[in-house]
Amino acid sequence: MAPWIREVGIVFFLLIALAIIGGITGWFIPLLVLMLIGLLVWQAIEIHKFEKWLSQGAKQKHPKAKGIWEDIYYHVYALKKLEKRRKKKLGKIIDQFRKSTDALPDAAVVLGKNDEIEWTNTTAREILGLQTSDKGQRIPNLIRLPVFVRYLKEGDFSDSITIPCPTNNQVILSLRIINYAAGLRLLIAQDVTQLRKMEQMRKNFVANVSHELRTPLTVLKGYVETLQEMPDSDSKLLNHSLQQMQEQTERMQYLVDDLLLLSNLETQPRKSECVNIPALLEKIFNENSSLTTNPERIDLQLISNANLFGDEQELRSAFTNLLSNAIKYSPPDTPIVISWHQSDKNLIFTVTDQGEGIDAEEIPRITERFYRVEVKRTQKISGTGLGLAIVKHVLLRHDAQLIVTSQVQKGSKFSCHFPLSRKC
Ligand code: ADP
Repeated sequence: MAPWIREVGIVFFLLIALAIIGGITGWFIPLLVLMLIGLLVWQAIEIHKFEKWLSQGAKQKHPKAKGIWEDIYYHVYALKKLEKRRKKKLGKIIDQFRKSTDALPDAAVVLGKNDEIEWTNTTAREILGLQTSDKGQRIPNLIRLPVFVRYLKEGDFSDSITIPCPTNNQVILSLRIINYAAGLRLLIAQDVTQLRKMEQMRKNFVANVSHELRTPLTVLKGYVETLQEMPDSDSKLLNHSLQQMQEQTERMQYLVDDLLLLSNLETQPRKSECVNIPALLEKIFNENSSLTTNPERIDLQLISNANLFGDEQELRSAFTNLLSNAIKYSPPDTPIVISWHQSDKNLIFTVTDQGEGIDAEEIPRITERFYRVEVKRTQKISGTGLGLAIVKHVLLRHDAQLIVTSQVQKGSKFSCHFPLSRKC
């Protein structure tokens, strides 16, 4: 039976009893008033006991009660028990999460809306020098490295930054911020010292090998040329072999030169001087025009006379590579346009050709080292596959961007976009 029906039943039973007694004694109304007052007082006492039990957290066993109050106590107690079980389960999950993030070799810090620390794992406290008591403090007040403060301020977290470890300057950290909920961010820092060491070893190795190969190659090339010039060699096989040797040593020399240039770009500090770009482009134009069979095909358009802060040698090498590619990868009778102009935001160097073009899928890969597009050409075009990698590195060192647009069999346009801040 539902508890409320039982309660109504009791009141109904009391009323009948009261009516009988009232009928016999003639005191029905006073007895009814007395019974109602008694019921109200009993309810008030039960409400008071219930409120007291709740205000004490409903932790102790509930007070003895009768009727509907017993049911109410039972339901509240059951709900409390369920909540306790849920809390325990949630606590376990949080505990497991804490343990797993603490076991992470990377530092993890949860940051709030105003870059204040909300939570840190053990590695974050070890390698970033943070304390548990730093909770609530703004992280730029604790890690004051300018590169980190700028990274936080700019808010562009698409790339990671490299910083020295605040607790040990022998350690290099790669740090990244990830937005994961409205106003919440996760800072992840990873020890990349070993990786950087290996990268440096690779750079040194390439630089040393390229350097060491230069001298033997020059000697070899010299001997091959001497042998080719000897008048008494009329053997066809010997002449063919010498021709092949000369071509291959030349190819190796180009490769070694390009590798050395690339590793210099990676390791050497960059010079910064005001480079007269129009004059540089005229020089490059004259040099390359004299090398082609059809010099009129190259058109130099100096629309801007702006100069650029940078390294002249590096810029010369990048621009020359782009022009020589245009010459190499387009038929000898098609026009090539070199231009230097200024837009709202950039200074732009462009080389446009009407050559074989590049497939859209290949464009993202052409600046990779040694990447050459496989095209069935009637004539094999020699190259090292390092030219555009050099261009990319030079532009990176000049805060510039390479933009390539191309259509197969129609031609290509290579543009170098320099920021106006480099204008001089
Ligand atoms: P390389 O010219 O020595 O092969 P690069 O790094 O300069 O190396 O160029 C990579 C590849 O990109 C080339 O092999 C070529 O297939 C393609 N490429 C570069 N410039 C052009 C161009 N102007 N037109 C068509 N293809 C080009």
